[in-house]
Amino acid sequence: MNAKTERFVDADAWRDRIFSCGWQAGVSVADVIEPATGKSISRIGLADASLVARAAAQAREAQEIWAERPFAEKAQVLRRAAQLLEENLEECARWIVRETGSILPKAQFELGICVQCLHEAAAMPSQARGLVLPSSGARLSLCRRVPVGVVGVISPFNFPFYLSMRAVAPALAVGNSVVLKPDPRTAISGGLLIASLLQAAGLPAGVLHVLPGGADCGAQLCVDPNVAMIQFTGSTAAGRKVGELAGAHLKKVSLELGGKNTLIILEDADLAVAASNAAWASYLHQGQICMSAGRILVQEAIAHEFARQLADKANHLPVGDPATEQVALGPLISRSQLDHVHGVVRDSIQAGARLEAGGEYRDLYYRPTVLSGVAPGMRAFAEEIFGPVAPLTAFQTDDEAVKLANLTEYGLSAAIITNQLDRALKIGSKLRTGLLHINDQTVADEVVNPFGGRGASGNGTSIGGPANWEEFTQWQWVTMNGAATAYPF
Ligand code: NAD
Repeated sequence: MNAKTERFVDADAWRDRIFSCGWQAGVSVADVIEPATGKSISRIGLADASLVARAAAQAREAQEIWAERPFAEKAQVLRRAAQLLEENLEECARWIVRETGSILPKAQFELGICVQCLHEAAAMPSQARGLVLPSSGARLSLCRRVPVGVVGVISPFNFPFYLSMRAVAPALAVGNSVVLKPDPRTAISGGLLIASLLQAAGLPAGVLHVLPGGADCGAQLCVDPNVAMIQFTGSTAAGRKVGELAGAHLKKVSLELGGKNTLIILEDADLAVAASNAAWASYLHQGQICMSAGRILVQEAIAHEFARQLADKANHLPVGDPATEQVALGPLISRSQLDHVHGVVRDSIQAGARLEAGGEYRDLYYRPTVLSGVAPGMRAFAEEIFGPVAPLTAFQTDDEAVKLANLTEYGLSAAIITNQLDRALKIGSKLRTGLLHINDQTVADEVVNPFGGRGASGNGTSIGGPANWEEFTQWQWVTMNGAATAYPF
């Protein structure tokens, strides 16, 4: 960092605070616990439903003023935020590492795409936002995209900075205000750092509120009359509740939910490359990614050797505290998550799966695990694991692979590895998935792509790139006559 760099990361600012028209006391305070050590690394304020309601009312007032600001001013705030984030990237990355248990390269990648996301959002205010329409009368008829109003953003713990930013930045860019409720376990990376960043970049007070809190705060956003839209990223179980509640209040609802993503490896694949893809898709961020490979389908002829190579890789990956050691995997986020992961592994072994590697843990550190012989009916085949577990299932024919891949209510990401592109395209066209990658693994996001799942992975909306106009604005039809004329009566 050079001498001219402006710092915005200030742990004293958010200590015991929420962000709502500046830094304010919450209704209570909470320690931020580092999953790697179990120690407190900071303290934050927590909100409740009444503070959410107050913030939503303030955000509604601020939105009307923000929407009227010149497009260049909105763009300038977002460009400045991108620049500041880039300059302070390493310091922010250290917070992500300590608060989420992520390894440093994952944190750096996450922040890198946030910088891009801010640049993409900064380009939105100057884009054309409407169409001139034909009209039966001699009048001007046009339609234009207008902001939805106050957007309530509810985000999860796993990629907290990006999963908040991917909604906050485009929502602000097109003239909305935002009330953001990050997961209270990762409220610094998922919200308070974003508040500091945008405040330093010149965002007017009241346009962004960050209120760490639990499900009650999220529920208040869903019912609050001042909130026009909910953008939710999280589990399918919570997403169903959010959809139900917000739907009953006739809000626009965007749900980006869980996944049980399939990686298909055909018999002609380079085994070492395929094993590397499978390890990345299964173990990156301890498998706590919505796009993690939840099912690895391997063609029978190579299944045995593939399992051996993946197990060998898993056995050699270092696991430990990412803040102090060079590791590939850090800790899981919580004891309850670890219990879930271990329960899935244990029950699947009992049901007949073979443990090829891992299956052990210490504190919150779960060894990268390989299960082979995973079959429909086993928990490892059916459930989203959200832990470092690679469930392998052998298949004979392409049709069987398609059938196995589609045997889930989820539909987020899928990938196929083969040298036969025509075969991959044929298989891919039959997969029920929002994201499809050929000759790659399942975990990918580039900010400029529309990102969204099908079935239980979402409600058919997408976020990112060209999808953001649809997501964060709505159509308004406008007609204009030179003068009013009389009707037949
Ligand atoms: P979660 O659903 O428990 O929590 C997500 C957020 O929702 C948190 O802020 C939480 O406080 C809030 N919340 C929980 N219950 C709520 C309720 N009833 N009403 C309102 N808000 C509520 O999810 P998690 O365990 O933190 O995250 C992991 C899940 O998120 C996984 O299923 C993962 O696949 C999914 N995810 C999806 C995407 C995607 O883009 N599709 C990205 C990341 C994570």
